[in-house]
This record gives sequence, structure tokens and C-alpha cells, in this order.
Amino acid sequence: MIAFEGIFLIYLLSSIFFILAVRGLASPASAERGNHLGITGMAVCVLVTLLVVPSRNDVGIFLALIAAAISGITIANKIKMTALPQMIALLNAAGALSSLLVGVVQILRHQAHAFDTSVGMIIGAVAFSGSCVAFFKLSGLYTFQRLKFANLINALILGVIAFYWTRFSIDGTMQTAYMMIALSLVFGATITLPVGGADMPIMISVLNAASGFAAAGIGFSLSNIVLIITGAIVGASGTILAFVMTKAMNKNFFQILFQHKNVEQKQALNEKTAHTASVQDAAFLMQNASKVIIVPGFGMASAGAQYALKNMTDVLEDKYGVEVKFAIHPVAGRMPGHMNVLLAEAKVDYEKVYGLEDINPDFVSADVAYVIGANDITNPAAKTDTSSPLYGMPVLDVVKAKTVIFVKRSLAAGYSGADNPLFFADNTLMLYGDAKKITEEITADL
Ligand code: NDP
Repeated sequence: MIAFEGIFLIYLLSSIFFILAVRGLASPASAERGNHLGITGMAVCVLVTLLVVPSRNDVGIFLALIAAAISGITIANKIKMTALPQMIALLNAAGALSSLLVGVVQILRHQAHAFDTSVGMIIGAVAFSGSCVAFFKLSGLYTFQRLKFANLINALILGVIAFYWTRFSIDGTMQTAYMMIALSLVFGATITLPVGGADMPIMISVLNAASGFAAAGIGFSLSNIVLIITGAIVGASGTILAFVMTKAMNKNFFQILFQHKNVEQKQALNEKTAHTASVQDAAFLMQNASKVIIVPGFGMASAGAQYALKNMTDVLEDKYGVEVKFAIHPVAGRMPGHMNVLLAEAKVDYEKVYGLEDINPDFVSADVAYVIGANDITNPAAKTDTSSPLYGMPVLDVVKAKTVIFVKRSLAAGYSGADNPLFFADNTLMLYGDAKKITEEITADL
């Protein structure tokens, strides 16, 4: 048996691994190392906990661990890169649910401090149901956005949660706790349901932060240092990410949570009014360009076109001496850093990859903006149309390039559901097809 001080020190050591892991994940070059550090920290935690926590059902725990490990490995191996955001939402839900359940067990065993346990349980329940709703929305299984009187309903539920929370702090009974949990579960769903498409990335960060804080709350009630530290790391990093993304989208939390814009998917767009181009046109325009800016979006990820893009870039640079740059919008794709990860995987030079603020002044001098599977992040209505769900979000100024080539399969809207007037601009050419296939064909032509 390890002495209490020994456990404390080992947990502290694991926490240091987690902090170093986050540090490693900050850059693509050190991300793999960061990941390994995180895995080591977690393995140490699980092993020590198994060794020191007395249990009446060792076999049950081992069976559960094996089943969880097998399902985790299977899902991780099968999941497509484009479905990672849903997976993150599910993992988030799992973390929040465990905090909630540990809290319930603590109360049932009469070992809980009412205040920290109830905070952990409320946040855990909100993060759990919110993450489940986010999972359904991100997987496209559920597109419903409208929730009449959402703010009024949420304010009422929050008021009743506050009532039961106060009551629980006084009477500490299970009945009160169950009411508090049930209402928190409802609140998580009703606060996430009406969040607009373009705001989902921020909502996911908020839910992620919430599940971290729930774990920290439960950590206090268990006096478990590793839960407190890791919960605080997840909570703080999720909060910082949410702030950074909110700023990048020129919004604030109030607008995201309470000012919902509902988009009716318009089918008024007419394919005949947009100018179209062939693969040969695109190859011709790019080989004669001095500067080409590539703008990847969700469709690039979905098609897995990153390697094809890298090949096309090499040919343009080596054979035709074209200057090629990549423009990355902070919410391109379906998760923070989505495009960066894919471009790094295809070994695109980091030096050529630019963020929104750095690249926007460059579009005026670009001959071609090659927009591949991107839509919302280029939508100029974000600047001009106050009714657009994207209004206020800074966008990539592709419209300023001499020619814009849009590679996508149709004139369909992007994630936000907003129509993109750029498809009909005089300098835009639509090149319909799968992002990878079209890029390979252009490269072959080049
Ligand atoms: P969008 O969702 O706006 O547009 C992607 C476009 O890709 C679609 O219009 C689609 O058009 C096209 N497409 C899909 N598959 C293919 C394919 N195989 N080949 C070619 N084109 C394809 O993506 P953006 O990256 O421009 O913007 C991201 C959006 O997602 C933003 O609204 C953002 O808020 C939201 N979001 C971002 C998250 C994040 O953390 N980054 C998380 C959650 C949401 P078509 O069907 O015609 O081919």
C-alpha cells in the first residue's frame, strides 16, 4: 500500500505531465510529444487509483476498464477526421457525466460537502446534456434551432435550479438533489439548442470548460488533487479558447447564448446565374498567376484533399514559379485548428500558412483565390447583412482577389445555413465537384 504522501506526490507528478502535455499541444511540431505526455499522466493516475482505492468489486472494475479501453480504441481508430468535433462532444459528455455520477454517489454515501458537490453536479449535468445536444447538432442528426421564448425559459429554469441548490445546501436530501440535477439536465439542453450554426465552435469550448470545472468541483468534494488540477486546466483552457474564438468572431458571450438568429435554409439560389469554370480554366489561371492564395474549409477536410493540395502547390511553385500561400480562418472546418492539423499532416510548410489578420491585406494583390470546400468563412454578408447569422464575424477577403475559384459540389450553403452572395460575384468562377478529385485533375493538367 502506498502512503498518503506518496499518492499525493504521484498525483502531483501526473498533473505536471498534463501541464506539459498542454504545452506540447500548443505547436504542431511538439503536439505528438504533448499527446504522449498526456497519455503517460493518465496511465499513472489510473494505475495508482487502482492500487490504492479499496474496492469490493475488483473484477467488475477491471471488466469495465477493459470494455471502455476496447471501445475507446475502436472508436478512435474508426473515426474520420471530419467527425472529430462530434467525438469531442461525446467525450465531453462522458467526462461531465462521470463528474455528475461521482457527485451522486458521494451524496448517497453521506460523504459530500454540500456546496462543492452540488456545484460539480449542476455544472456536470448542464455540460452533459449540452454536449449531447452539441453531438446531435454537429453530426447533422438534429438541425432544429428554433426554441420559442428560449431566454425566458432558460431564465425560469435557472431560477428554479438556484432555489433547489439553496434548499439542497440546507437540507442535503436526495430528493432535492435529484430535482436540481433534472433541471440542470434540461437547462443544458435548452441553452445549447438555439445556438446558431456559426456559433457552435464557441459553445463547444464553453461546454468543454464546464466539464472541466465540474471535475474540479467534484475533486474538491473528494479532496482529490489530480481532479482539481486537471479539472482546472480543462476549465481554464476551454474558457481561454472560448474567449479567443469569441474575439475572432467579433462577438461576445451574451450574443452567443442569448441573441439567436434562426436561419431558414433558402433554396432561392439558381445555379445558372453563377459563372462556372472547367478544370482546364482553373489550371490555366493558376499557372499564369504570380500569387495564388488557397483558402481551405470543411469540404477540403471532408474530401481529404490536403495531400492533393500539397501536390498542386509543389507543381505551381516548382514548375511555374507561382507564389502560393494558405489562408486559415479561426473557425474553418469543424474544430479549432482543423485546417492547420490537416495541412501539417500533408507536410505543407508552416511558413506558407497565414492566419486571418495576416493574410487579409494580401488578397488585393492575389491573382487567384482558390477556395476549396470553404463557404461561411468567405461570406461577405458577414460584413453587410445584419440579419445574417454570420453578421459580425470577420471573414477572409477573398472577394478582393482578381479571380476567385470556388471548388465545391453545388451552391449549397455552409454550416451556418446562410447563402453566400460571393458565388455570384463578377470575379467568381464556380468549379463544381469533389475537392480532392478536382484538385488532382488540376494538378494533372498543370
Ligand atoms: P462551411 O460549412 O461553411 O462550408 C463547407 C462547404 O464545403 C460546403 O458549403 C460544401 O458545399 C463544401 N463541401 C463539402 N464536402 C465537399 C467535398 N467533398 N468537396 C468539395 N466541397 C465540399 O465550412 P467553412 O470551413 O467555410 O466554415 C466553417 C463553418 O463551420 C463555420 O460556420 C463555423 O462557425 C462552423 N463550425 C466550426 C467549428 C470549428 O471549431 N472550426 C465547429 C463547429 C462549427 P457543397 O455541399 O456544395 O459541396
